[in-house]
Amino acid sequence: MTQTRTDGFGPSYRDTYYTRTMEPPLNAAPLSDRIEADICIVGGGIAGVSAAYELTKAGKSVVLLEADQIAWGASGRNGGVVTPGFAASGSAIEKKRGLDTARQIFDLSREGVEIFREYTQTLALPGVEIRPGALSVSRYRDAQGMQDAARHKTDAYSYPVEYVPTEKLREMVRTDRYFDGVYDPQGFHAHSLNYCLGLARETQRLGGRIFENTRAVSMARQGAGHLVTTQAGSVQCETVILCQGGMVDGFSKRLQRNLLPIGTFVTVTEPLGDLAHALIPTSAAIVDTRMACDYFRITPDGRLLWGGGMTGMALEPANLEQQMRRAFTSVFPQLADVKIDATWSGLLGYARHRMPYLRELHDGVWAATGLGGHGVNVGPLVGRLIAEAIVDDGQRHAVLDPYGLTWNGSVFGPLAADTVYYWEALKERYFEWRYG
Ligand SMILES: Cc1cc2nc3c(=O)[nH]c(=O)nc-3n(C[C@H](O)[C@H](O)[C@H](O)COP(=O)(O)OP(=O)(O)OC[C@H]3O[C@@H](n4cnc5c(N)ncnc54)[C@H](O)[C@@H]3O)c2cc1C
Repeated sequence: MTQTRTDGFGPSYRDTYYTRTMEPPLNAAPLSDRIEADICIVGGGIAGVSAAYELTKAGKSVVLLEADQIAWGASGRNGGVVTPGFAASGSAIEKKRGLDTARQIFDLSREGVEIFREYTQTLALPGVEIRPGALSVSRYRDAQGMQDAARHKTDAYSYPVEYVPTEKLREMVRTDRYFDGVYDPQGFHAHSLNYCLGLARETQRLGGRIFENTRAVSMARQGAGHLVTTQAGSVQCETVILCQGGMVDGFSKRLQRNLLPIGTFVTVTEPLGDLAHALIPTSAAIVDTRMACDYFRITPDGRLLWGGGMTGMALEPANLEQQMRRAFTSVFPQLADVKIDATWSGLLGYARHRMPYLRELHDGVWAATGLGGHGVNVGPLVGRLIAEAIVDDGQRHAVLDPYGLTWNGSVFGPLAADTVYYWEALKERYFEWRYG
């Protein structure tokens, strides 16, 4: 089922669960002219498409350039878990910014979740298939820690979540691998590729212009604005928004120096029939509490979709399918013999502080990127905040200003990232050995 490009401009999506269940691709033509617009967006993932939709809706003339197809990158390949928060942990944000500001930042991330839910419903985006619930689980006994976390989120952030003790947890997820849980009834999981395709179509319907198979190759000041050049055309515009995610390709040297691409992996089994409900009776998505966590969910057609692993080397291991099978059978040995239908990788863009870059880099050039492993809610949020900033001089994004550009460590960055993941994993294994 891999859709390979045969004519130079057809779909080239990686074979994933999402492409196997996708709505028709946009098949937008590449840019081959010199055109003008108020705003040129570079990158058609969830950040770029959200910004394009919000700005077009607000009456701006918008052009979106996508090097491959809409949501070809992380936005079309992810775990589909939609919960409030950012890639940086809540406690890290609270430590750096204090509780009041942390609350304000958390509320923005909630808004991202609600935008995704609202547009899916009000625009009737096809094939997004929202399923309710998100369950965070510990791999060692941590009743006190998980109860405290649930209480803090409920009381300090006015976001009600529920502590789930071991016995009840094991009724929701039938494995002895997990001990304590926190259930978020407002979180959900969904088909993020179809969300992006649906929103891109709505953008076109409102007059936004989208060009696929169109890589932006350079950018220069031209008059009062900017000229973005592609392989076969150019866009003269007032404002440029950079939404390239982890797929930084040298177009913006500044972002290239300040973002670290991190590789991560997903696999999907064949439909499991009755076994799906027998093993995972909950409709919720499940995410463990480790830094490089495992996350999984039962898809609407009854498959196990399982994600995990992180590498700063941004490479796909040759035995990836085997590694993924080992990971899910360590939790559900009953699945040893199920067939795997697709396995894939994707690239995340991380800043060292693990918060998004949402700022004007210099006059009229904005960054809306660095969403890390939490982009399905943060993407819709950055789209809205950047539209407010450009259209109405809105300042809600300014609460993120202290998260400025941070050097990625150049060739040492990937090694440093892998060292952090390694030490965290070691620490977590110790807890599992001690309290498991
Ligand atoms: C395997 C995986 C699992 C994940 N699971 C979750 C999850 O469960 N929940 C969650 O919230 N987040 C998850 N994430 C993170 C989330 O998917 C990302 O944060 C989010 O999709 C990033 O969106 P983006 O628009 O910034 O970047 P992308 O989706 O990467 O989009 C960037 C786009 O820019 C295009 N581009 C790059 N350079 C150019 C150029 N020069 N010209 C034109 N176009 C260009 C690329 O082709 C690409 O389509 C996951 C990510 C991965 C990879």
